[in-house]
Amino acid sequence: MVLERIYRLLSSLKGGTMIPTEVVLSPESYAEIIAELSETHQSDSITESRVALHLALDVTVRERNTDNLIVKELVPNPCPVCHRQLTFLREAIARFEDDSRSLIRCQMGHRYRGQLRVFQISIREGVRETEKSVRICPECGSESIQYLGPSEMLCLDCDWDSGLEVRFQPRAR
Ligand SMILES: [Zn+2]
Ligand SMILES: [Zn+2]
Repeated sequence: MVLERIYRLLSSLKGGTMIPTEVVLSPESYAEIIAELSETHQSDSITESRVALHLALDVTVRERNTDNLIVKELVPNPCPVCHRQLTFLREAIARFEDDSRSLIRCQMGHRYRGQLRVFQISIREGVRETEKSVRICPECGSESIQYLGPSEMLCLDCDWDSGLEVRFQPRAR
């Protein structure tokens, strides 16, 4: 159930500062999603754009044996001037990508130098309860640890993460 794994991952990111923007699928997984959607929608005309619409994400199919969710995050967040969390993150990220000055603009109008971090999170393997080695955030002591992969996790209450690696940089302009 590829779709279900994607949904689970998406809901785990909800309310956080990381925004899922794209899903990159192997042809096999893509075929599986089409089959799953056709079953529930009684339609034989499920297209790539229908899938994208359904997930509210861009969908890319690649001849590679990987399934990844592309997630983006603007840092720092909150704004260092007014300490407010950035709002409308999806729009803020799009604005940042279009702006060559690497400036983030908060809703109060402050502009500050920032960075866009891009992550690829595998949607393949879920993490079994027994594999969760970290249960308490080493930074703030919260128990709200969200696992994104077997050894990839972040704290939902503070900025801590397990050194989530930036796997690729957006192309330079
Ligand atoms: Zn501000
Ligand atoms: Zn924490």
